[in-house]
Amino acid sequence: MKYLLVLLVAAVVYSLWKNRAGSVRRAPPPGGGPSVAPSRARPAEVMIACEHCGLHVPAGEAIVQSGHTFCSREHAHSGVHR
Ligand SMILES: [Zn+2]
Repeated sequence: MKYLLVLLVAAVVYSLWKNRAGSVRRAPPPGGGPSVAPSRARPAEVMIACEHCGLHVPAGEAIVQSGHTFCSREHAHSGVHR
């Protein structure tokens, strides 16, 4: 009777461990889901360096001309200075 109890406990522990291993694989990591990433990435906008003066400007405000990025239309007109 004692061995039966041990066997029962072992079976319960094994099934619990198996369920846990399966749920860990399926469930997203705690606090690191894809829903967290956009809210973190939003405040830090991508900065692009002006290829004329080297000034870093937000990607939304940068002037892109024939593959080169500039901080202003004047520098875009002046061209690349290195
Ligand atoms: Zn510039």
